[in-house]
Amino acid sequence: MVLLQRGGVKRILQHFYSGNHGNTKSLLPAADGAAGRRRNSTAVPDVRERTLIAVKPDGVQRRLVGQIMQRFEQRGFKLVGLKMLQVSDDLLSQHYCELRTKPFYPSLLHYMTSGPVVAMVWEGHKVVQTSRTMVGHTNPAEALAGTVRGDFSFHVSRNVVHASDSPEGAQREIQLWFQRKELLNWDCCDQTITCEL
Ligand code: UDP
Ligand code: MG
Repeated sequence: MVLLQRGGVKRILQHFYSGNHGNTKSLLPAADGAAGRRRNSTAVPDVRERTLIAVKPDGVQRRLVGQIMQRFEQRGFKLVGLKMLQVSDDLLSQHYCELRTKPFYPSLLHYMTSGPVVAMVWEGHKVVQTSRTMVGHTNPAEALAGTVRGDFSFHVSRNVVHASDSPEGAQREIQLWFQRKELLNWDCCDQTITCEL
C-alpha cells in the first residue's frame, strides 16, 4: 500500500476541484457546504401569521394548559405572547360580538368568566388554519380523536380551548386581548431548519 505524502493529496484535490476530472466533481463535498445551501434557500412563506389560542376556564381548572401548549410547540409554532387573566365582561362581549343573539350567549359569558383563562399568541406558516384543525370541531361530540377538543372534552358548553377562525379574526382578537408591547418578536434557534426550504 502506497502512502500518499501531504503534497500528493493536495495535488489530487486540486485536480478534482479544478474540474479536470470528467463527471466526478459531483462526488466531492460541495466546497461551500451548509453556507451554500443557505445562500440558495428560499423561505417558507407567511411565517409571521399569528393566531389567538386561549385555554378556557375548564381547561385551566383541569390543568390542561401544559398539554395544550405542548401540542403547539411540538408542531413547530412559535409562542410570541402569553398571559393568564380573569376575563372581563367587556372583553368577552367584544370577543364574542357575533354570538350576542344566540340562546347560549348568557351561559357562554358565565362559563368564560368562571375562572382564569390562559391566552396565547402563536406564530407560524398557516397557523390559523392549522390551529383550527388541531383544536377540532366546536362540538367535542363531533371532534376527531387527536384534536384538543376530541381528546379532552365531550360537550359544546365546555370545549376547553378557543382558536381564531380566520387571519382577519385573529388580528382583531389579538389586538383585543394583547397590547402591542406584550407580543415579542424573537428568533427561534431552529428557524433556519424549519423555515428555509
Ligand atoms: N358554544 C356553546 N354552544 C353552542 C355553540 C357554541 O356553548 O351551541 C360556545 C362554545 O364555547 C364555542 C363558543 O361558544 O367555542 C364560540 O362559538 P363558535 O361558533 O365561534 O365556535 P368556535 O369558533 O369556538 O369553534
Ligand atoms: Mg369562533
